[in-house]
Amino acid sequence: MLENITIILVNTTHPGNIGGVARAMKNMGLTDLRLVEPKVFPDGDAVARASGATDLLDNAGVFSSLAEALADCQLVVGTSARERHIPWPLINPRELAAITAPLSGSQKIAIVFGREDRGLTNEELQLCHHHVNIPTNEAFSSLNIAAAVQVVTYELRMAALGLTESAERPQWGTEWDIDLASHQELELLFEHLEKVLVDTEFLDPENPRQLMPRLRRLFMRAVPDKVEVNVLRGILSTIEKKIDGGH
Ligand code: SAH
Repeated sequence: MLENITIILVNTTHPGNIGGVARAMKNMGLTDLRLVEPKVFPDGDAVARASGATDLLDNAGVFSSLAEALADCQLVVGTSARERHIPWPLINPRELAAITAPLSGSQKIAIVFGREDRGLTNEELQLCHHHVNIPTNEAFSSLNIAAAVQVVTYELRMAALGLTESAERPQWGTEWDIDLASHQELELLFEHLEKVLVDTEFLDPENPRQLMPRLRRLFMRAVPDKVEVNVLRGILSTIEKKIDGGH
């Protein structure tokens, strides 16, 4: 239970917070912690704040980019204390738990937490299927990162135990017959799409505006599976062949 859920911390400044996150995770039965370019790690402060959760610190994967940390994940969820430039499907932790609880244990889910001072960048948030916001006091909205991990993972645990009644399942469904595409497969699709859009001169690389973020949001909202991504890649390849044949 909950072992398919990975917590990813991006660019954490204070090692004590990494320890606090490890403790919060272990309390709720999560085990997989990934760190993207932590400022200071390993560190004694992390061990001290982890209490007995040092096994999570010992096993934590350290990555040099968020893309690498996400590569094998199929559902990617970003957390944010505030609304961003391009709005994305925004849910609260209870709604997130209603999405993840019915998924089989073989679907790898990543929940991404940002820097203590700046959170996640727009580019990082655009790698995600959903954005989760803990509905805090609007005048003082930002939680300590370990506290945010605690709130989110508590809801995941409650739902996994079948103890949550009220969460409405958001309308973008979750009962897939085919495994979801992985982060890496989706990124290859976006690369391919962008190339074809440039080749067909629909996208002007000198003036891209918000075309790719908007297309990204469209596809992420659909939470595509592996077969759907393959079909889209096939369509793009056919267009490429036609263009090449015409030249
Ligand atoms: N000023 C930053 C706050 C970062 S707090 C910002 O506006 O994003 C550090 C991290 O804790 C955030 O990146 C997020 O992962 C998590 N967090 C803090 N408060 C949150 C909230 N109300 N809802 C969801 N995540 C939150």
